[in-house]
Amino acid sequence: METTDAFRGLECIDCGATVDAEDATHECPDCGGILDPTYEYGAIDLDRDSIESRPFDSLWRYEELLPFARDSAVTMDEGATPLVECEKLAEELGVGRVLVKDEGRNPTGTFKDRGQTVAVTAATQHGADTVALASAGNAGQAGAAYAGRADLDSEVFVPSRSGFTNKAMINVHGGEMNVVGGRIGDAGAAFEEALAENDEWYSLQTFSTPYRHEGKKTMFYEIVEQLEWAVPDAIVYPTGGGVGLVGMYKAAQEFEQLGITDELPKLYAAQAEGCAPIVEAFEAGRNVHEPVEHPDTICGGIEIPDPGASPWILEALRETDGGAVATDDDDILEAAIAVAKGEGLEMAPTCAAAASGAWDLAENGEFDGDETIVILNTGTGNKEADVLRSHLMGHGI
Ligand SMILES: *Cc1c(COP(=O)(O)O)cnc(C)c1O
Ligand SMILES: [Zn+2]
Repeated sequence: METTDAFRGLECIDCGATVDAEDATHECPDCGGILDPTYEYGAIDLDRDSIESRPFDSLWRYEELLPFARDSAVTMDEGATPLVECEKLAEELGVGRVLVKDEGRNPTGTFKDRGQTVAVTAATQHGADTVALASAGNAGQAGAAYAGRADLDSEVFVPSRSGFTNKAMINVHGGEMNVVGGRIGDAGAAFEEALAENDEWYSLQTFSTPYRHEGKKTMFYEIVEQLEWAVPDAIVYPTGGGVGLVGMYKAAQEFEQLGITDELPKLYAAQAEGCAPIVEAFEAGRNVHEPVEHPDTICGGIEIPDPGASPWILEALRETDGGAVATDDDDILEAAIAVAKGEGLEMAPTCAAAASGAWDLAENGEFDGDETIVILNTGTGNKEADVLRSHLMGHGI
């Protein structure tokens, strides 16, 4: 296995076991917990100048802080997305600045590419032939795309309610698509059953592979660099499994450790009211979520009723003095339309939960008035233009 110099291996966030990344490919061999890549930060020679001297061209420009080197990566130059100033939004929210990190500009249109570039690179390092996952759609599309690029077969399990673009493109990328009746939980169960029967499959499932949150953490590095090394006051993130949220929490701690920054941003989890296990746990002061029995939201990408990493997500919200907010589908669609109309940026409904959540936080007096707020637009609106359009039609437009 070819790894970067400071990469030390994997550590279980539940029991603390440390394991060799060559031997352990997925969950903790001792307790089944989530494995997290570790580094010897003292051996990493990175500062603001050395980072700035590199072209802003791909998330792999931070390769010292990733397990694998850029020249061994399965990459399409994902990441390096714009951070777009939104003056009208700032005025409406009554804060100093609002910037949207536009992850819709990634190769397959969402930030899932950041996770899959690292996870599929790990799969090639481990000699996999077939990668497999269950997905609401975007992670499956990204997984199929990166698998194709790496000459791997892919098996993707999506729920029947997954969007047309996702389903179409999984096939176009050469993936084997398994449509499962029902919702993401049903697709997940069908995937687990198939995985048990095919031990040669290499799982790309979030937090089963240790590498998807590792790829997504680079969003934070980019945001800080794009703000000329200022840490934003708050980051609002549309939260499902929380992969990107814990990734950014980790990245913020890493930059502190390296002396590149000296504070953490407040991290806010935005969810849809129809499936808000993190918001419920946060508000109740609990350290772990309770699964949502009947999830129901049009935001497929964050309809995750049973997020296994909830203790880590809740830690991130509390340790950064952030919070959690849920808004309903109607407000979320209105937010997507308001942002598209006023700022030009195209947000899918799932992503607009972050915009809608930021609005709600502002209305509830969470901000003082001079903050810099970053809203994550995790994916492009054109994946679900039909959903946005039909909302307008429902209002006679
Ligand atoms: C998967 C997804 C999310 C949720 O991501 P997590 O990191 O699992 O919380 C948000 N937005 C979009 C567009 C997604 O595809
Ligand atoms: Zn463990």
